[in-house]
This record gives sequence, structure tokens and C-alpha cells, in this order.
Amino acid sequence: MTSNFRHLLAATGIAAAGTTSPALAIDPFFPDFGNDGINVLHYDISLDVEPAAGTISGKAAITLRAPRTLDRFALDLHALPVSEVLVNGTAADFSRKGDKLEITPAKSLLSGEKVNVTVAYGGVPDPLADPTAPGDNLFLGWFNHRKSAYVVSEPVGASTFFPANDEPTDKATYRFKITVPEGYTAVANGTLVAQTPVDGKRRFIWSMTEPMTTWLATVHVNKFTADLRHAPDGTPISLYVPEGTPQSHIDGLAKAGPMLTYFETLIGRYPFRSYGSVIVKDPKLYYALETQAMSTFPEDASPPDEAFVSHELAHQWFGNSVSVAKWEDLWIAEGAATFFETWWQHRKDRAAFDQAMLDIYDYVVAQNLGPAVVDRPEDLFSDRTYYRGGAALYALQLQIGDSSFFNIMKHFAQDNRGRNVTSEDFIATAVRFSGDGSVRTLLESWLYDDAVPALPGKAKRTARTGPVPRPDIVGGRCGRGSHRGAPAACG
Ligand SMILES: [Zn+2]
Repeated sequence: MTSNFRHLLAATGIAAAGTTSPALAIDPFFPDFGNDGINVLHYDISLDVEPAAGTISGKAAITLRAPRTLDRFALDLHALPVSEVLVNGTAADFSRKGDKLEITPAKSLLSGEKVNVTVAYGGVPDPLADPTAPGDNLFLGWFNHRKSAYVVSEPVGASTFFPANDEPTDKATYRFKITVPEGYTAVANGTLVAQTPVDGKRRFIWSMTEPMTTWLATVHVNKFTADLRHAPDGTPISLYVPEGTPQSHIDGLAKAGPMLTYFETLIGRYPFRSYGSVIVKDPKLYYALETQAMSTFPEDASPPDEAFVSHELAHQWFGNSVSVAKWEDLWIAEGAATFFETWWQHRKDRAAFDQAMLDIYDYVVAQNLGPAVVDRPEDLFSDRTYYRGGAALYALQLQIGDSSFFNIMKHFAQDNRGRNVTSEDFIATAVRFSGDGSVRTLLESWLYDDAVPALPGKAKRTARTGPVPRPDIVGGRCGRGSHRGAPAACG
């Protein structure tokens, strides 16, 4: 990619930048997902889960709005058979075309009209081949494993368990009603608002009242032990671990409480009502995922060290509350998580923090990593997104100083809460709150240019001689936690 790429970006335009947008975008990385006609406001997802059989029986009540008159529209739904579709309570015609559920309502949707769509569906969920790792035999979405179930969807796995407008800008609120056999616990995003016995089973109701993008939606069903605590600021912290998990692992996850309160001093109020962590006991899962307000950790990463916990927690501000409008800008989330994971570990020793970031910079130089904004899905979880993205933020910090840097990060997180953003939004925020026009040039070179820029000021350094080791960050498909079952491409 050349530096001309940014002009191309500007020309294509981004409808959703910095807004709680109507979802009129289809992401160029994944053109088979998402719908350019509807804007989902709320998903009410009822699932009856039979972990022993691996089946789900679902009903999704979806509130949506059509920005223009529509005779038909579509949702993403992978594999699961559909038995009935209602639009405003009236049966609608529907058909399946690949992974699209095409719906023709009895009456056209009127422009701006709020519409209730109910889809009854069920079967054995079938994970989707991961389009970011072609040929790597990786999958996304709902997984059944030894009479338990879990979901990791980034970037496009949501349609394996509910009919979705699976496109990053169509954020919505969610309610999950998950019914499971007695002895099991169902976990989902947000806050557990009720659990009630129903016909010899147990129903767990979870509520996510802040906007959430589809790929962050999660459900876990297992025989969990729950540990409920509070962060020092009062935010409820819940931990769900499989039976037999050692106390030390639970205590490791619980460090999210003090971290959360500390991060608030740097980047402002935690964006959700509660936070939680859940451990998946499937050796095939080799990475953690920042599922909104309920991060998912692989058992393989146990005991979860502070790098893992701080990385997924930082994503709640950067990546979840403020999330990318286009996948190519994922560095905004992963660069920030890399930065804050490193900052947390060395927060009491500035020299050690600088050294850790310089190690990352040296690695970026040694690998000649391309721009942080990536131009194809295969690079989404690459070192460019994580290492060069993190180094870009460090370069900004060096240029303008800690106080101005954290003020920018705080404004970016708080002023865009619940919204989708682009790299240009970040650059504009950095210029505005630093009052320093030169940060535009600095950031553009880090985000769009092939050549690795020099670091500003005293950190300018000559190239290291000899091999530069890969810094040990959580980062991506090839980072920590990926030592078992990692894709072949990671080497
Ligand atoms: Zn991450």
C-alpha cells in the first residue's frame, strides 16, 4: 500500500463516522455480510439451549427501522433452519439465499417506520469459516464443546446463532433470554437481570443497554461457578469459571476491578454498567476476546496474567464502546489495547514503559511493518494492527507529552461513547485537543505510509543490529495465548 491510500479513503467516504449511524454500510472487507437497507435498534434473543445435544431453539424479536421504503430486506443467518418470520405480527414470506434470510413482508416497510420482526429458528449451530485466515481451518461464532457452548465472533460470526445485520456500524441494544438445563449457567453480555426456573429448566436474562456491535455479542453455557465482586469505584465485576478452576485464576481475573478504576483516572468513566469475565474450557480456543462487558478468556491463558486482563479491559473503552466504522481501522482498538496493556504493566516505572514501547518500535522497524490501517481482511489481526498501531500512539505521546496524550484518549473515548469512528476521527480529535497541527502529519505517516516513521524527540534511535525479538504482547492471532492451535501463518 502506498501513502496515496488515504486519499482513496477520503474519496470513498464513510457514512457512519462518529455517529450512531443508520446502518447503510456494507464493509468492503466482508461484502457478503450486512444489509444496506435496515437499521437495527434492538435484538431480543431467546434461546433454549441443550448443551448435551448441541442444539439451540431460538426466537429473535428484532426492532428495526428502514431509512427508506422497502419491499424486502435481508438478515444474515448461517445454516440454522427458520420456521417462521413475522413482521409487525403478520406472517411474512421468507427464503434462504446462501447465508441471507430474505424477508418479504405482507406490507412494504415505510421510510422511517419502526418495525418488529420476529424470526423463529433452531438447530445445531455451525461455525463459519474465518474469512481473515483463509486455509487456516479457523472458525467463528457459536461452538459446542463437551456439553458446553460458547461464542467468539470477531469479525463476522454472529449469524451462527441469531439473525443479524452483521456489519460493524449497526449497533443496537440487546436482551438475551437463555434457557438451560438445571445445573447449567447461561452467561451473556451486560448485566444479569433475572434468573428464574421454567419447566424444570433455568432461564437467565441478560441485558446490554448500551449500543453493541454484532461481533461482540456472546453467549456461554456451562456448569459455571460465579464469583461476584465490585471494582473500587462500585462497578459490579462478575467472574464465571468452569467447575474446578483454581482460586488463583479467579483472583487473576478479578484484578480487572482495580484496573478498571485506575483506567478511569486516565480515560474517563467505564462505559458499561458492569464488567465480567468468563473462561472457556476448550483447548481449541487459543485467544481472548473483548466480548462487550463480559470478556472471554481461553483456559489456555490461565492463570490469566495482567497483560491479558488489562488488554481486554482496555478494549471496553477502545473497540467496544467506541468501535470502528470500518474494519481497516481496527488499529484504533488494538493499538490502544496494546498501549494500555503495556502502560498498566509499567505504570509505576516510566523507564520500563518507555523501554517496552521502544522494543515494540524496534520490532516494527526490524519487520518493516506496513501502515497501521490495513487494506485486506487477511491483515486484520496482523502485527501491523497491533504493533504498529500501538507504536503510533506511543509516537503521539512522545510528540505532545503525557498530559495532552491522555486528554486526547479520554476525549476520544468519552465524546464518541457508543459510536463508530474512523482513523480520521482520531486524527481530528488529536489535532483539536493537542492544539498542535503537526500531529496530523505524524499520525498520517504512522497510519497510512509504507515506511516506518522515526519516533519524535529524544526517543529517536538508530536501528538495532542483530535480530529483534517479537515483544511479548497479547496481540492478535499470532500473539500471546496463541501458542496452542495458532494458525499456520503465525509460524
Ligand atoms: Zn485486542
